[in-house]
Amino acid sequence: MKIKLLGSGDEVGKSCLIVSDKSKGVVLDCGVKLQPEPPTYPRVAGEDINALILSHAHLDHSGAVPTLYRKNKIPAFMNDVTFELALLLIKDSMKVGQKQGYGVPYSKNDLKRFVKSAKIVNYHEKFSAGNFRCSLYPSGHIPGSSSVMLQGSKKVFYTSDIQTLESHLLNPCKLPDKVDTLVIESTYSYKSHPPREIEEKKLVAAVEEALAREEAALIPVFAVGRAQEILLILSDYAGKISLDGMAKGASEIIMSYPRYLKEPEKLRKVLKKVNFVRSQKDREDALKRNPIIISSAGMLGGGPAISYLRSIRKRPESKVLFCGFLVEESPGRNLIETKIFKTAEEQFDVHCDVQRFEMSAHADRSGLFKIIEKTRPETVVCVHGEHCRDFAKEISSRFSINAFAPKDGEEIRV
Ligand SMILES: [Zn+2]
Repeated sequence: MKIKLLGSGDEVGKSCLIVSDKSKGVVLDCGVKLQPEPPTYPRVAGEDINALILSHAHLDHSGAVPTLYRKNKIPAFMNDVTFELALLLIKDSMKVGQKQGYGVPYSKNDLKRFVKSAKIVNYHEKFSAGNFRCSLYPSGHIPGSSSVMLQGSKKVFYTSDIQTLESHLLNPCKLPDKVDTLVIESTYSYKSHPPREIEEKKLVAAVEEALAREEAALIPVFAVGRAQEILLILSDYAGKISLDGMAKGASEIIMSYPRYLKEPEKLRKVLKKVNFVRSQKDREDALKRNPIIISSAGMLGGGPAISYLRSIRKRPESKVLFCGFLVEESPGRNLIETKIFKTAEEQFDVHCDVQRFEMSAHADRSGLFKIIEKTRPETVVCVHGEHCRDFAKEISSRFSINAFAPKDGEEIRV
């Protein structure tokens, strides 16, 4: 069996790999790297593939999926909520690509072919892809997110983005007992997360401080998963919250698939009280009346969050509160490091109180080690992290097993 990495080698972004057995290949995810601009895509042309399995809707896993359908008519396996959320995000990224002048490396027809090829599967339902018997496991990362088990001549388990701890929104991941090869995400392989309750208290305190001074608290979020988690953390303040950008449509889709949520009724109640922002005029009102602004994009690479930041940038008592992953060189990461907001289009100083909270939807290093202990692999392949090589070395010495951190384009025999 072979595993070939097409993206996310020693970096976070454009997740894409091919697992093949007896020359039949299955693509696991096909994402885009949006930051830094311009976006980059995995090179899939010329690869021999028989099926796609999509783990979850985030664009760094789904954003390049239509490029697979230029020449191929392969089945695309995923669960229902992932399908709907991925379509929402992919269609939006086409609009953004056009607006920014970058475009996208696929056509509307490629997207249509993907839609026609979709095969909806539930968690733990067995299906065949290439020469593998496969199934999806809940990965605890966002609604619908899945790890993938592929059973061919050997058992390969691809964690995709995974969280071992429960959140307000989701239950923790589920893991198999024994696999041969583990392909593990490595986003936080280099650090431990502080206790979640403490970070949540700090976030609530920062929001209360802004409200007490009649100032705004802008929380840039990923539309899928993070927005809903923050809504639950701030549920006591629902009447003061404005929800903007893709987070609105994503929340509506997520609520139509409540079985993926831990306590869907809680989220439904919060959403009823929240102010959904529909226009630029609404945005000015939102800052006055419902000044806890939860808006995409999470790394400030686009979306209405930027428009709010422009409005509050000179107000030192307003707050910008980051709660998710910030990739290197993203506008969000730069803002934290320099207090300057900078994209290809604009640049300005930000005088607000900028803070970051660690309440990640990814497992930290202790969580990642627990995954290895539970699945007892003979080989580990580290992907999707800025420190994959160090992590692979650490795994090798700690567990006395083979661990690799392949580069994009590299192939490993397992
Ligand atoms: Zn993700």
